[in-house]
Amino acid sequence: MTTTAPSRPLTTPQAAIPAAYTELCGLRWQASTVGSIGSLLSWDQETYMPHAAAAHRADQSSMMARLAHESATSPRIGELLGSCEGELAKLNGQVDPVVHADLREMRRDYDLATRLPADLVAELARTGSQAQEVWKDARQKSDFAMFRPWLEKMLDLSRRKARCLGYPAGGELYDALLDKYEPGATANMIESAFTPLRARLSALVKDLSASGRRIDTRVTKVTIDARLQHELGQFVLRAMGFDFAAGRLDTTTHPFCSGMAPGDTRLTTRYRDEAFTDALYGSMHEAGHGLYEQGLPKLASIASAPAYGRPLAESISLGIHESQSRMWENFVGRSREFWDWLWPIAMKMTSTSSAASPLSAYSTDDIFRAVNTATPSFIRVEADEATYNLHVMLRFELERAMLAGEVAVKDLPGEWNRRVKEYLGLDVPDDRRGCLQDVHWAFGLIGYFPTYTLGNLYAAQFWETINTQIPDLKQRMAGGDFAALKKWLNENIHIHGRRYRAAELCENLTGKPLSADPLMRHLEGKLRPLYR
Ligand code: ZN
Repeated sequence: MTTTAPSRPLTTPQAAIPAAYTELCGLRWQASTVGSIGSLLSWDQETYMPHAAAAHRADQSSMMARLAHESATSPRIGELLGSCEGELAKLNGQVDPVVHADLREMRRDYDLATRLPADLVAELARTGSQAQEVWKDARQKSDFAMFRPWLEKMLDLSRRKARCLGYPAGGELYDALLDKYEPGATANMIESAFTPLRARLSALVKDLSASGRRIDTRVTKVTIDARLQHELGQFVLRAMGFDFAAGRLDTTTHPFCSGMAPGDTRLTTRYRDEAFTDALYGSMHEAGHGLYEQGLPKLASIASAPAYGRPLAESISLGIHESQSRMWENFVGRSREFWDWLWPIAMKMTSTSSAASPLSAYSTDDIFRAVNTATPSFIRVEADEATYNLHVMLRFELERAMLAGEVAVKDLPGEWNRRVKEYLGLDVPDDRRGCLQDVHWAFGLIGYFPTYTLGNLYAAQFWETINTQIPDLKQRMAGGDFAALKKWLNENIHIHGRRYRAAELCENLTGKPLSADPLMRHLEGKLRPLYR
């Protein structure tokens, strides 16, 4: 690579900054810049790339992954880290706490990255890229047999990766993969958080269904042209504060957000004419991720060095990332106040000069109820707030068991369907709506799913605190004013990058360790009255 790191003079002498630090930041900038090119290739593959380009794209992705890995594991980084740590030890706590946290996280990243051989990194990227193409086809044809050998390959590679990364004594392979996404979390910790939550959620869903009340959801099934849905989505995203001068919204098979580079945050969603709220919530969800990415200080200079590439300009964990998306999607987007604001606007935006809006037959009450049902369904990304976490739990159990070799890949459809029946009471009609619905395993993203439920728990706990600190938040939302909420998230979460670990941030902000109580209070408080 010929990219050179920008050099900036030191201007903050107030705290002791190790001399090697600035060079270290420059090398991290270089590694992240290489990584960002790989992210751009990956975004393109999921949005606009012609199918025939798949084979060469796998080569390109593999090559970029190798280069990024080489940059991140350069022996010079190791030398500079060692030198900074030596100086820190002599400074006796005199160092800027921000620099201190930055070095702590750089050490973590370097140690993890250097445990992975470059060949394995390249192989994971190449096979993941190929498996993704096969998955698209297999999902469309609902043909698990087609995808099966690729999932076996990705699991083998993931086991090799986990063995290289290692995990603390008494743990399991899964811990090594989970820790990449949620630093400090283990499979046992997740299991102990999920087991009681599953019981409480199942009891709630059962109660609501036993109430006999059926919520009319016809309003969410009216036909609205995808172009109008796109305009409505963009309007809501602008109101949330998403900066379109530094981002985009495109369409894809599986919605995602890529905060690929400073000033460049890409969101994707998908449209079906007869499911406008699916696309709207998908867009709001990804924009919640996008606001986090845009709120990270990637364009800044911290302690006199470029922030991009440093842990201080990166997100804490996937759980915290997901707390941002779920907050906007569910706590804002499924609130009564949100619809009080958006309904008349949506009506206007979906009517044409010749015809009234298809929404005009319905009221704010109708839409508020329809988006707050608790109805077991097959597709995770379209699941309601109450049943969503049950989808996550079954994935966690299955990927943990497959990685450990306790469930064979050939038995996945059967094991999947059995759990869907047990947790959600449904008979899976085909693998497209069963074990082939998510892209994660094709990419080798194992240990990723639990962060979705962690995100819901964090979102609920943060939301309670935010509402005490912004007491008129609900009135503001009813007027379409989300600025105070965005500012709170920017100032309390985004700006810190990885300065705090997730559990520490949670305690700092809410005064308590993470608990399932706020999420259950939120769901019970909203859903029970609707089903009464
Ligand atoms: Zn998400």
